[in-house]
Amino acid sequence: MKQFKEIDINVLKKYDKPGPRYTSYPTAPLFSSEFGPDEFRNEIINTNQQSDAPDLSLYFHFPFCDTLCFFCGCTMLVTHDRKRITEYNEYIKKELDIAVPLISKNRKVTQLHWGGGTPTYLSPDEIRDVGLYTKDRFDFADDIEASVEIDPRGLTFDHMQALWDSGFNRMSLGVQDFELKVQEAVNRVQSEEITMDAINWARQLGFKSINLDLIYGLPYQTTKTFEHTLDKVIDISPDRIAVFNYAHVPWLKKHQRVITQEMLPTPENKLLTLKMTIEKLTAAGYWYVGMDHFAKPTDELAVAQRNKTLYRNFQGYSTKAGDDVYAFGMSAISQFRNIYAQNYKSLPEYFERINAGEFATKVGYRMTEDDHIRKYTIMRLMCDLEISKSEIENKFNINFDTYFADALVKLEEFVEGGLLEMNGDKIKIAGNGILIIRNIAMCFDAYLEKMMAEKPIFSRTV
Ligand code: SF4
Repeated sequence: MKQFKEIDINVLKKYDKPGPRYTSYPTAPLFSSEFGPDEFRNEIINTNQQSDAPDLSLYFHFPFCDTLCFFCGCTMLVTHDRKRITEYNEYIKKELDIAVPLISKNRKVTQLHWGGGTPTYLSPDEIRDVGLYTKDRFDFADDIEASVEIDPRGLTFDHMQALWDSGFNRMSLGVQDFELKVQEAVNRVQSEEITMDAINWARQLGFKSINLDLIYGLPYQTTKTFEHTLDKVIDISPDRIAVFNYAHVPWLKKHQRVITQEMLPTPENKLLTLKMTIEKLTAAGYWYVGMDHFAKPTDELAVAQRNKTLYRNFQGYSTKAGDDVYAFGMSAISQFRNIYAQNYKSLPEYFERINAGEFATKVGYRMTEDDHIRKYTIMRLMCDLEISKSEIENKFNINFDTYFADALVKLEEFVEGGLLEMNGDKIKIAGNGILIIRNIAMCFDAYLEKMMAEKPIFSRTV
């Protein structure tokens, strides 16, 4: 089935403005120090006493990188001091020691994710050390989705073997762009050969799902050069492709100042590249899941969208709805049904808390009933591309039209533009609406106007 008749660039232009990605609701800027380590500990104790506690999802943040990619927006640290990496891994294990005794042994781990930074900057022995330390302390489900972010530069087969031995079966590999001029401008030269080595090793070992990450809007990128990159990616035939918008925020990420405005494609060219990307990938048989994600129709992500079991968390789209996410490492964010808790973003403060035998929670948030209603509505819209008013009414005991009277007024604009359909019980994304799904979801956000008025905190929506 063809997903789009055509991509209307005027829609992209009109709605290209800052907005949240809704990997959480409320969004991270609302977290506060009123929710700290004691509140987090109590929440862990309480939720693990409940007989219907959901399965577990574990996230580990490995911040270290060998070199700095100039486009980077992650929480990361460049180091060549291997002792720092070893030391950090010990802290991750200590943090596990603090949490594990509080977590019910009856709960299975259905999802595991290592992000960074560069998790594969760990040596194979270090990967096994932390990986097996974790595996020994939890009950991993047989069908666990265990994914790791891979940087092919410096990667060896031994790294992949160590990941496989630690239970990993999915990988996300950073490519960004195959064009040498673009790679040089962003300080990330990565040959096609080493990228292919990583993919071949993963396939040889039996990794189930391979995702490639690309970025559009990078310096010296043109629609034509990016099309060459996409041709190569389609030949590789990954299960999933993520195409992220380069967020140029030099006031937040100082290293991005090396990238000057003259090096960047114009906003018009960037949108043409996005249009070409969506048309090309969908023509090649990929399903546009939403936001930045494409998947083969047989991939779990596309299947979960069809089955309405897709979900969003801090790792983006997820197939395991409702799991509690326990996150380890500096800056990592845990999310349970009722709370969010984020660790310190600075290494010394993270170490200090863990040394004291406490959780390293710096900020957090406890959800209100209104947050639950809005979060559910936003998540269903972004994942299912439609919402059923009666389903939300029954779940939360509200009258949808009354509760969301303000939002419904804001949605009119999208209905008039043919981007949304409102028919009786259903509110459904239509036509090119999927391209600007963040803007549509923003209508249900109770905090947005106040936050946007205060300071620029979100990247652009397109
Ligand atoms: S490897 Fe990843 S985390 Fe490290 S600098 Fe490059 S983009 Fe950022």
